[in-house]
Amino acid sequence: MRQLNDLQLMSVVEIEVPFLDPFDFFPDATPDLLDAQAHWLQPRYQDPVSGRLMFCFQSYIVRTPHHTILVDSCIGNHKDRPNRPDWHRRDGSFLTDLAGLGIRPEDIDMVFCTHLHADHIGWNTRLVDGRWVPTFPNAQYLLGRGEYDFWERRYRADAGGPRQIAFADSVLPVVEAGQAVFVDGDHAIEDGVVLEPAPGHTPGNMVVSLRSGDASAVLLGDTIHHPLQLKRPDWSSMACEDRALSAATRRGLIERYADTDTLMAPAHFPAPSVCRFVRDGDAFGFETDV
Ligand SMILES: [Zn+2]
Repeated sequence: MRQLNDLQLMSVVEIEVPFLDPFDFFPDATPDLLDAQAHWLQPRYQDPVSGRLMFCFQSYIVRTPHHTILVDSCIGNHKDRPNRPDWHRRDGSFLTDLAGLGIRPEDIDMVFCTHLHADHIGWNTRLVDGRWVPTFPNAQYLLGRGEYDFWERRYRADAGGPRQIAFADSVLPVVEAGQAVFVDGDHAIEDGVVLEPAPGHTPGNMVVSLRSGDASAVLLGDTIHHPLQLKRPDWSSMACEDRALSAATRRGLIERYADTDTLMAPAHFPAPSVCRFVRDGDAFGFETDV
């Protein structure tokens, strides 16, 4: 747990696994470019056995004087994700691990997903008597209006795609339960907790900016997936809807925060994920002893 003056920042890790092959995940990666980074990548950031990039899947929890906010709700249990074996029909300990932080589902009064991909919405719902119901009964679920509209249009066009199936089991039940609140960019949840547009990975992608007194942090979601992108900010992932815009947004955030004291909290950096970005020649790096 990190104390940022009046704010507390915590995380619950659902899984950390060798996820995807770097050349599949980053279409711009080449063996030469990757070899140049091998000295720091393995074993923590790249699995030496499979060569796959290590990914953490986690939720951040922000406790403020007024709210307990869960940011990005990970993968979830019992979800049908046949194209992702690590995510498929899980039976993991996420809620027990949340309880280990002293937080029950009914204590979460706000949920925000930086975007609506399956690994950021899963615990929005859980399976009860064969139905998907909101996991957090007292929560308002904040949904970016543009992000929601984008995925709803896709869902109406083709309900059978993997991302649309996730939308149906993890987003629509929250809307049907009357717990969704639609927000636009630059929405302030309260003083010092602001949702900011960061488009590219998805059209309505947002980050969460935290500030209390002289302490600050940014929950970056998937604007940056992996530490490799500090060396190559131009590398967008195959999961980015608009790779050029994603790269511009990523570079803008990295340049804005590099060499500042603002803590960076990406969704998928191996734990402990919270770090500082620093300049390193004409690229960037990160420090984890923060
Ligand atoms: Zn993700």
